[in-house]
Amino acid sequence: MSGTSRTRPSGSGTALSEAYDTALLDLDGVVYAGGHAIDHAVEALGTARDGGMHLAYVTNNALRTPAAVAEHLTELGVPAEASDVITSAQAVSRLVADQLPAGARVLVIGGEGLRVALRERGLEPVESADDDPVAVVQGYGGPDLAWGRFAEASYAINRGLPWFASNTDLTIPGARGIAPGNGAAVEVVRIATGAEPQVAGKPLPPMHRETVLRTGAERPLVVGDRLDTDIEGAFNGGVDSLLVLTGVTDAAQLVTAVPEHRPTYIDADLRGLLTGQPEVEEDGGGFRCGGWTASARDGRLVLEGDGGPLDGLRALCAAAWSQAGDKACDLDAEKALARLGL
Ligand SMILES: [Mg+2]
Repeated sequence: MSGTSRTRPSGSGTALSEAYDTALLDLDGVVYAGGHAIDHAVEALGTARDGGMHLAYVTNNALRTPAAVAEHLTELGVPAEASDVITSAQAVSRLVADQLPAGARVLVIGGEGLRVALRERGLEPVESADDDPVAVVQGYGGPDLAWGRFAEASYAINRGLPWFASNTDLTIPGARGIAPGNGAAVEVVRIATGAEPQVAGKPLPPMHRETVLRTGAERPLVVGDRLDTDIEGAFNGGVDSLLVLTGVTDAAQLVTAVPEHRPTYIDADLRGLLTGQPEVEEDGGGFRCGGWTASARDGRLVLEGDGGPLDGLRALCAAAWSQAGDKACDLDAEKALARLGL
């Protein structure tokens, strides 16, 4: 199942934490950033959990084990168990195990999180192309991964072994800036082999499937800050999503989003879980949300009225997405966005 083309953000008469049974939360840019909890995240998640919402944390980062991620979350004030954390290492391990016999030897390029996840699926991680592996699995290895590991992967893949990757995020944000992510490491091996990996992580279906299998969610809400991983993953899985503005996505990117990148709901931060969401109503030639009305006029998006900036953004998205159909909106939104100060 995949999502249909969305032309405006949805409303909700009840708090999202009541309308959905499980929040599938991205971590970086949603719960924490650079080792610190994001403003309002700890309190909002605590209130949602106390109200009965199940919270699960879904990360494309394959380096750390779920236990290590849960410990970090708990230290930040967000109590979590290892079973509440789903990683792309787990998703790729299931993908590998579905295609290989039990006990198969797998050459691992990556960190402890990947080795633990492979063993959990009954596979045997090995370290050399000469250890008789039958497949290669590549995940983020952190700053200490030696260059020789890419050579090892290339030897094995060039011998004809199937190649799997936990995820293909090109970059990874850290306290000191942006660093190459697993997608960049995958490109290195691709250049040396000309091969194509099978990929598990967001926005692809294996990750969403792993998340639903592990949480048992019946009515999940994906919560994320990235359009091309979190929101597109929800679209591919046919489930609703909440985009929060605490991470990498800004208002201009939302207005120009292609259909698979359009979230169901938009809010400033995780406090959005605790409230309903306003309806965007069609009004004459425009779209009204709160005190704002947005419309397309003479090649521009025009915003009239006054009110909260998020309502203005929701109205603008409705005007832009309706006009753009299955493409990205190409109307000039600069002046309208400037009014919102987002
Ligand atoms: Mg993120």
